[in-house]
This record gives sequence, structure tokens and C-alpha cells, in this order.
Amino acid sequence: MNRKLMELELLNARGGTVDMKQLDKERKGDVGEKQVQKMLEGYEVIRDILLEVGGSYLQLDFLVVCRDRMVILEVKHHQHDYEIIKGQWHFMDGKSCSSPVQQLERSKSLVNKWLKKRNIFIRIEGYIVWTNPNSQIYGLQKSDQVIRPGKLGTIINQFDSHYKNPYLKQLFLDGQIIDSPFYSPQNSSSESIRAMHCPYCFQTSLEGKRKRMYCTRCSQVIELKEIIHYQILFYCALNQTSTFRVFHIEQFIGNRISRRTLLTYFKNLLSDQKIIQTNCWTYQLNEPIHLIINKLEIKSANFQVITEVGK
Ligand SMILES: [Zn+2]
Repeated sequence: MNRKLMELELLNARGGTVDMKQLDKERKGDVGEKQVQKMLEGYEVIRDILLEVGGSYLQLDFLVVCRDRMVILEVKHHQHDYEIIKGQWHFMDGKSCSSPVQQLERSKSLVNKWLKKRNIFIRIEGYIVWTNPNSQIYGLQKSDQVIRPGKLGTIINQFDSHYKNPYLKQLFLDGQIIDSPFYSPQNSSSESIRAMHCPYCFQTSLEGKRKRMYCTRCSQVIELKEIIHYQILFYCALNQTSTFRVFHIEQFIGNRISRRTLLTYFKNLLSDQKIIQTNCWTYQLNEPIHLIINKLEIKSANFQVITEVGK
């Protein structure tokens, strides 16, 4: 799951102040990322990682670990057409825009720097995967390394799916930035409602009270146990913490579920080892929240609330 997208969706659903242009961009990007993720199934891949290198932030969509190299894949799912003139990218109305190729070069050099600092010397390759078939780029050079999913398939076929490097993968997972620079919990006072979120579409549209609830937005029927687990994850994500108390969750969801019921489900989650009890009031996630989000599959990208917000 894309952490930035998740944070923005949750905040938006809670009535917080969200840059809608940014949210729209993240939603579109997510469509392309899901497509690429499917193609990479079975390979050693690090997903949606956030690093800090010498004061610069670096966000990577995919990093494939191969025997002799690492491959950065940046996914772009743009709606518009582009024209490249002498290396400079332009919208079709002539206005210039930032070059994804330059961004990729920057990413490659920062990953190199990050690894060198840890005494690891490995070749870094990179591609921009252009996933929206409706978006054309004119004036592209072969050396630009912008590819369509079809070409990516050919490249992936050359990777060795049997090769695993858990050490290198863990190094990146451990080296991530934990506090998101995109969102600070201090801003959470801007949220105007407290509510429960649907684990499928993030909207605050759950109905029903019994062991199952129904989402009026995406029509999913979801077990209360799963819903409560997700509310804990959402609370932790927005507050950038991995510890919580019952009353935190109670407040977060606007007292929609009684403390007694919450505690019953907490017991369930404890026995499933999804959470750990650290003392009689305090609980902890079984892993740091940013690692859980990394692995989290949000099951449906069925956002019926998508709004078109220009480019
Ligand atoms: Zn839903």
C-alpha cells in the first residue's frame, strides 16, 4: 500500500485539510503501481520505500533486487500527452514541466550514495514505466529509459526469480524514514470528524452494528474483527505510532463501538498475534506501522469519489 495515498485518503475522509490535486495524483499513480506490482510477483522487490540521503528525500515505487544489480522502477500513470524537445519535457500546450528522466537519474544517484554509505557497491539501473495507454510521449529517445508495461515484461523475464537477498531487502526496510515528511500528526487537529473507515475504500460509510458491517460506498460486507484491526492500523498510521490504548481507538472512531466490544476484539487480535499487550493499558502492533503498510494490500481501488482535478 502506498503510504502517502493512505494518509491522504484517511485525512480527506475525516474532513481534514488535504491538497486534492495531490490526492488525485496519488490515486492515479496507484492504478499504474498495482499493474506493475502484479508483473513483479515472485521476484525480490522492495515497494514504496522512503529514504533520506544527505538531507534529501527519496521515494521509490519499486526496487527490484537482482544478483548483479538493483533496478528502480518509477511508475507514471499520467493522463496527458507530452513532448520532449532537447531533453526538456513539455505539456502539449507548450508549457514546460519537470522531467521524469531527470528525476530517475536523481533517484539512481541517491540510491547509489545511500548504498555506498553502507559499503555496498552494486550497479543501479532504472526505468520509468509509463502505464496509461492513453498518454503519449513525443520525441522520446531510446536512451531515455521510459518504457511501456510490454517492454517491462521483457525486462522482467531476464530477472532471476529464484534469487533472493533478504539481507539487502531488510537493510532497505530498516533504513526507511519512519516519520512521514508528507504529514505531521500535529496537523490532525484539522480533522473535523471522528469516524470509522472502510478498510476497502477508506470512506466513513460503514453501516450496521452486529458482527458484520456494510459499506454504503463500495458495497463490501466486512467482519467487525477486520474492521477493528484496520481502525487500529489507521489510527497508528495517522499518528505515526505503533502503540495505542483502547481509549485512543475509541476516540478515533467517534465512540461507534463500545469499549467492552473493543476489548473483546482486542483479545481476538492478541491471540492472532496481530497486536501485543505491553502493560495493562497499552498495546503495540506486532510490527512497526510503516512495515505493516508496506505489506498491506488494500483490496479494492474502487474509488467512486474520484474527482478530476486538472493536471
Ligand atoms: Zn467501502
